[in-house]
Amino acid sequence: MKNVIIRWTLILLCLTAAYFIVQAKVNSIVQKNLNSALKVEFPQYTKEELIKDSETRMKYLLTRTNVKFTIHKVKLKENLWLIAKKHGYSVHTVIGCNPQMKTYHVNVNDKLLLPESGGCIHPVTPTDTWASIAEKYDIDEQTLKDTNCRITDLSKEIYIFIPGRKPAVDTLNESMQEKYALRDLFRSPLAGRLSSTFGTRRHPITGKISKHGGIDIAVKTGTLVAAAADGVVTVASTNVGHYGTAVFIDHRNGYITHYGHLSKILVRVGQKVKMGQIIARSGSTGRATGPHLHFTVKKNGVGVDPLKFLW
Ligand SMILES: [Zn+2]
Repeated sequence: MKNVIIRWTLILLCLTAAYFIVQAKVNSIVQKNLNSALKVEFPQYTKEELIKDSETRMKYLLTRTNVKFTIHKVKLKENLWLIAKKHGYSVHTVIGCNPQMKTYHVNVNDKLLLPESGGCIHPVTPTDTWASIAEKYDIDEQTLKDTNCRITDLSKEIYIFIPGRKPAVDTLNESMQEKYALRDLFRSPLAGRLSSTFGTRRHPITGKISKHGGIDIAVKTGTLVAAAADGVVTVASTNVGHYGTAVFIDHRNGYITHYGHLSKILVRVGQKVKMGQIIARSGSTGRATGPHLHFTVKKNGVGVDPLKFLW
């Protein structure tokens, strides 16, 4: 009887010991895994890699920010404006997250990095601090830190994300900087669907291939038309050839703009106008198939694509 008790006690002791040994082992494994999970391992890339490849840029930003990103593969007939609109922000966000872009033109199958909401990426410079970046973009410093929540050492970073802001022009590549400068010259004479673009086209009335000197923006007759920039009215007439009723503005910097097929003129020749000032109402006078505004920009007498200037 005594022997049985001793034997069982020994067995129990052994089992308890085995239990504690196994428990300790499991704990150490769990702890090890936890430690490695807590230690943030940032993948490292060069700036060139981040510019060249949208997917790499997405990986980079996903590990450092609390922003969700997707890769958008450009489809046929899509343009920057359509893509931006579909995502509920302006083209500035698309440009601001895609430093590989050198023009506003996108090609089918181009891969664009798109954030879940508006904003841009900022290339960190050696002199940057959270405070200096916050000031540059007029944004709250804490918001900036919260967005880039997993960054501990700013000086080691290549890009951070600036929520809700347009890209700073000096951070863009040279080609985009030039294009941004042009966009400051004019604003759109109105908001509407673009029905015909600049350049060669089949004329809607004559059927002949001809050069279109401007853009057509389809809008209801009577839509307010604004001056695209400051200037002086040089033509305001109901009889301007195929333009019908039209207004011309000289912007005194080598640029002039034409507004054609109007229904009503609200300015007179010689009048000084400001950018955004209402000058007319749209219509379908002259050679027009339907109500639209024809808008031309000329530089030193030569027609240029207005879409170079308008957002
Ligand atoms: Zn036209």
